[in-house]
Amino acid sequence: MAHQLATCTFCKIIRNEEPGEKIYEDEDVTCIKDINPVSTHHYLILPNKHIRNAKTLQPEDSELFDKIVAAVDIISEKMNLDPASTRTGFHWPPFNTVDHLHLHVISPVEKMNAIRKVMFNPNTFWFVSADYVKSRLEDSKL
Ligand SMILES: [Zn+2]
Ligand SMILES: [Zn+2]
Repeated sequence: MAHQLATCTFCKIIRNEEPGEKIYEDEDVTCIKDINPVSTHHYLILPNKHIRNAKTLQPEDSELFDKIVAAVDIISEKMNLDPASTRTGFHWPPFNTVDHLHLHVISPVEKMNAIRKVMFNPNTFWFVSADYVKSRLEDSKL
């Protein structure tokens, strides 16, 4: 775990040890620009705490998870995104890119090409919605 934190690119960006274009940060979450944007706006909302992926989220992370999702509204307002054409979602293992949980925020959807639309299509088995992750988290509490 300690090793992972030391080498994780997103952790390094959060700690300002590596360059990254931060557009928002508070004590719980950081939002950066995706280095390979698939539309005009493409951001990643990261928990400041290292969590590997949506599948490894624990019930005690529930509050932090809500903050990640709530950051979508903050970013949308800040960057003037139209909610009707904004797509959000998490990779679902084993289809991860970076092993640090991140919520993709992409807008406008209309500008994405066909392949990207499939790649970032929520509720597939490789990319899931925040609602799906949340319901799974709630179920694990029972
Ligand atoms: Zn990390
Ligand atoms: Zn990603």
